[in-house]
Amino acid sequence: MVRNMKCEDKKSHRLLQTTQLQKNLEKNRRHVLVKMSMSLSLWLSRHVYRIIEIVIAVIVSLLTIPLCLILLLRRGINGQNVFVEQKIVGRLGVPVSIRYFNISSPLVSSLALFFHVLSGKLALIGSTMKSLSHDNAAPENGYLNTIKPGVISLWQVRKNSKIGHEGFLATEWEYHFTRSAISDLFLFLRAIPTSIFKNTQPVTSRANDLFGVLFVNLTMKEAVQLVGQKARQKEKTDSVFFVNPDCLNKTFADRPYLHILENGDYVFPDGIGLTIACKLLCSPLRENVNGTDMLPFLCEMAVQKDLSLFLLGAKPGVAEEMSTQLQQKYSVSIAGTHHGYFDYEQESEAVIDKINRSGADIILVAFGAPLQERWIATHKDKLKAGVAMGVGGLFDFYSGDTERAP
Ligand code: UDP
Repeated sequence: MVRNMKCEDKKSHRLLQTTQLQKNLEKNRRHVLVKMSMSLSLWLSRHVYRIIEIVIAVIVSLLTIPLCLILLLRRGINGQNVFVEQKIVGRLGVPVSIRYFNISSPLVSSLALFFHVLSGKLALIGSTMKSLSHDNAAPENGYLNTIKPGVISLWQVRKNSKIGHEGFLATEWEYHFTRSAISDLFLFLRAIPTSIFKNTQPVTSRANDLFGVLFVNLTMKEAVQLVGQKARQKEKTDSVFFVNPDCLNKTFADRPYLHILENGDYVFPDGIGLTIACKLLCSPLRENVNGTDMLPFLCEMAVQKDLSLFLLGAKPGVAEEMSTQLQQKYSVSIAGTHHGYFDYEQESEAVIDKINRSGADIILVAFGAPLQERWIATHKDKLKAGVAMGVGGLFDFYSGDTERAP
């Protein structure tokens, strides 16, 4: 009986041990699984960028197979090389050689760069590729090489869309300090149309005639210099209009507005739509000259030339807010401000008197198109400033009331 009880005890003890062991094993297994899934997600988050790059590079590389075959066939026939080689500054300043397809179309030829994305020599999105001869050796720019050069870069996208007003180095620094997964995604999306519509034709300063409106074809710097020169001369008040595709659409139904634009002293092309239109007309634009991008350059020029601005337009308080910000940021002289919600028939004389008494050299009129153009055209002979320019919703963007259009 006692022996039987001992036996039962041993059995239940062993059972307990086995259950405990099983529990421990299960616990360990769960622990290992959790550990594995954690390290997998860590690995994924670290490498997800690279995985996306590889997937895109594989797709593009597969699409180029027929082209490779044609180029190989060409090589067999006339001995012409399939690739052309270029030496560029790689990550950390190390020289690397990359290959383009040996064909005349820059867009198609650069598809070969995706092989380098696969091998890891290039990133899909990164800093701008610089040929060895163009490396800016200044020590403070060495930091720019810490990001791998990419097939797509902010500078290229801006240059192709004609908005590289800040210049190469400033744009590179901007990319280095503002880089994020989201901004890279948007850059990738923007790179597709801008590469397709990239200009490859010779660029001249010839003005472009679109529907009777003559667009001045200048770079942003030249446009700002022109405004400064006219503001200084003050022989008469020159009108400056920034015209985008929406404005041109409005002229279709609003013929007096078209007439005002036709007679404007300087009409600048605003927006990617006009860049594309001028490219299609085989008369490419030098740069997209819009009021929002011009403002910082305009303020810097005004400070240099000792010119003052008058801010006219937007809701009460907005021009004052913008004035404070511009003075703080650029130390530009603001001669005065006035909101844009007054009776244009009855109160324009008083407003013109206020502007003239302020001694302003450049007037920014922000009533929106075509109101501002109509106001400038009607009253420019009574104004004493050298330049009056229509700037649309600029004051609202600047004071943070409205988001700027993409
Ligand atoms: N505005 C004004 N007076 C008016 C109507 C509008 O000052 O009688 C201002 C409005 O507050 C806004 C600007 O004009 O600040 C119009 O901006 P919008 O973006 O509509 O103009 P766009 O850039 O499209 O020409």
